[in-house]
Amino acid sequence: MLRFWFSIPLWQRVIAALVLGIVTGLLWGPEAASIKWIGDFFIKSIKMLVVPLIFVSIVAGVASIGDLRKLGEVGWRALLLFVVTGQIAVWLGLGLGTLFAPGEGIDTSAIQRGPTPQPNETSAVDMILSIVPESPVAVMADAQVLPLIVFALLIGIGIVMAKEEGQSVARLFDGGAAVMQKVTMVVMELTPFGVFALMAWVAGTLGQDALVALAKLVALNYLGCLLIIGVMYTAMIRLLAKLPVQHFFRGIVDAMAVAYSTASSNATLPVTLRCTQRNLGVSRPTSSFVVSLGATINMDGTAMYLGLATLFGAQIFGVDLSFGDYLLISVLATLGSVGAAGIPGSGLIMMALVFGAVGVPLETIAFVAGVDRIMDMMRTATNVTGDAAVTTAVAVMTGEIDREEMISADDV
Ligand code: ASP
Repeated sequence: MLRFWFSIPLWQRVIAALVLGIVTGLLWGPEAASIKWIGDFFIKSIKMLVVPLIFVSIVAGVASIGDLRKLGEVGWRALLLFVVTGQIAVWLGLGLGTLFAPGEGIDTSAIQRGPTPQPNETSAVDMILSIVPESPVAVMADAQVLPLIVFALLIGIGIVMAKEEGQSVARLFDGGAAVMQKVTMVVMELTPFGVFALMAWVAGTLGQDALVALAKLVALNYLGCLLIIGVMYTAMIRLLAKLPVQHFFRGIVDAMAVAYSTASSNATLPVTLRCTQRNLGVSRPTSSFVVSLGATINMDGTAMYLGLATLFGAQIFGVDLSFGDYLLISVLATLGSVGAAGIPGSGLIMMALVFGAVGVPLETIAFVAGVDRIMDMMRTATNVTGDAAVTTAVAVMTGEIDREEMISADDV
């Protein structure tokens, strides 16, 4: 029985759980709320992974480059591309959410609402100060991702500066990253149960209108991701890297497929590395650094989704957003995508960061969580494609690519 269960690919079990959950909810009605705790259990388990995963993977990624000058040369270009593409992606999500209004017209009075988060009155200076971790331990305990990233980058740089002496620590983090990926795989096994319970709850308490709204959200998530891949990354490869687009996509199709089925940029990392090095001809140090960093901080699919989902939450709960709120969302969604770990469902967790700032009820998270997996798969494929596109563009700009190898890689 157990063997049969594990012989079915996880994504197929998740889709089956989704359908079963909807049917159960529609038949069972509001009583289905009694199993929502299973979904909460699942969401909590994902949250548990976020801090250790971000920390070890960024330290390991930075440490792997091994040379400070190279780190700077490659690093600033990669960061600039990460930020610019992230911003374009969020505004795309906000545009799609405004244009198609997927959350308009559902009655959410059956959802028990906790206190609505108050919009934060943080100034720009407060925001800058908040990225410096006063106490790294407190930052970890409170899961504050941005200061955590800063701390992790510094530790990585320290390891590089310590050269030989730092090697034992570097190996520790390398091992830690591998262990955390395995732990992630274990937690992912909870997904079918969480998805089943959450879908039964949504369908049971809110009925068909809610399902139609969720279907629209899923469709817009796919449309947004396809636009990012088909327009933004294609332009980056053509105009910045000046390489043939079809070679690029042929070179990374394996990584895209693994990303789609695992919904984890981190789990896909070994495949993305292999594709960028072997199929695209990017040098090993550059690809290790940019791809590992990108797997954690470059998530355009997630950024787009955070913009879209915030509008969705505002629409279903009738929260009015001003243009100032849109600007705040654009900054926070980019930061949220930076802070999201490359594991399944982390985009979902990052919603709290954005929602809190503009007063969108946190109940939206549980509401969309049941369909998150299907959207996550597409977001992750987009994120991984973005990592490979930025890595390739930066490699071309810094002369770290073997063009011959790429052009001749017809048999990839
Ligand atoms: N699962 C995504 C990734 O690994 C992040 C997300 O949830 O959007 O890239």
